[in-house]
Amino acid sequence: ILTVEQTKQWMQEIQKRMEANKEQLTALDQAIGDGDHGINMARGFNEVVNKIDDTEYDSVADVLKSAAMTLTAKVGGASGPLYGTAFLKMSMALQDKEVNQQNFKEAIDAALAGIKMRGNAEFGEKTMYDVWYQVAEFLASENVEDWEEMIEACQATIEDTREMVATKGRASYLKERTLGHVDPGSMSSFYIFEALVAVIE
Ligand code: ADP
Ligand code: MG
Ligand code: MG
Repeated sequence: ILTVEQTKQWMQEIQKRMEANKEQLTALDQAIGDGDHGINMARGFNEVVNKIDDTEYDSVADVLKSAAMTLTAKVGGASGPLYGTAFLKMSMALQDKEVNQQNFKEAIDAALAGIKMRGNAEFGEKTMYDVWYQVAEFLASENVEDWEEMIEACQATIEDTREMVATKGRASYLKERTLGHVDPGSMSSFYIFEALVAVIE
């Protein structure tokens, strides 16, 4: 379901969305964090695209590894290492494999476990983890090829974060004051999967 070329396109589609929604992500992070999430994401994925545009890759895993290294190195804060870990775990799960529905699901499971391990996050704590969890659940369901439905499920999860009290990351300092605000990382994760659906077969 994902070739080397499509994986590069995935990164390009992510970059476009992070750039186009930079202000929105920053505004969300201003409400419950330090207001840098849009800048972090746009800068990070610009670097990813610069890197992969002039590199030849033999496998999907290599593209993902390259993205992971760049995100870890170039994006500070909580989100850089978390997304870096997610893409690195995906890469490791897909090592020496052609990507199909089954191993892609396993790769997302690995990424989810990576975010959980790095961020010590659980479902329902108002973080990016919630969206990755939703995607993993979706890939384990019977609707697995209905990508539109996956997008809708992610959108619902983003809205759900509005009603949650943050217990991880900077937002956790604000406790109940995070109520009524969408988590910025859940929104950027949504763009990652919206971008995926734009390129996947
Ligand atoms: P920082 O908070 O360091 O400024 P960003 O603003 O780039 O970093 O990213 C903030 C996002 O990272 C949050 O909206 C949340 O989704 C995610 N996040 C923060 N801490 C954690 C954690 N421990 N586990 C999972 N996700 C987290
Ligand atoms: Mg921030
Ligand atoms: Mg920060």
